[in-house]
Amino acid sequence: MEIAIIAHDGMKADMVQFLNKNLAFLKRPEIKLIATGTTGSKAEKIGLEVTKMLSGPRGGDAQIASRVAEKKTDMVIFFKDPMSSHPHEPDINMLIRICDVHDVPLATNDATAQLLFEAIQVRLDKK
Ligand code: PGA
Repeated sequence: MEIAIIAHDGMKADMVQFLNKNLAFLKRPEIKLIATGTTGSKAEKIGLEVTKMLSGPRGGDAQIASRVAEKKTDMVIFFKDPMSSHPHEPDINMLIRICDVHDVPLATNDATAQLLFEAIQVRLDKK
């Protein structure tokens, strides 16, 4: 399954911590990771294999939205920074809308993302 990860600058440390916590799960062969550019580089630094899109403000969120619409991406983990505004707000809202249109799971905080990962792990273990 393809999982997209995105973190705004103010949330990148939280994302790295979250990824580290879930390293064993994320390295399972069933999991394919994609990410916006800078978030992807951070994930690579902790040993994850990631397909990187453009950086978010340069269209990375839009690229991920396109993959969600094409049913290529199965889940989106999007650590949005609730304490700052962004020049690419329209792209961010578009990605959230596209996830809702296509009923694709979207987590915007650590607690929800953790629940999703645990649910997927149970599903994969049953197979
Ligand atoms: P980045 O993009 O991972 O390239 O920083 C994230 C975003 O701002 O949407």
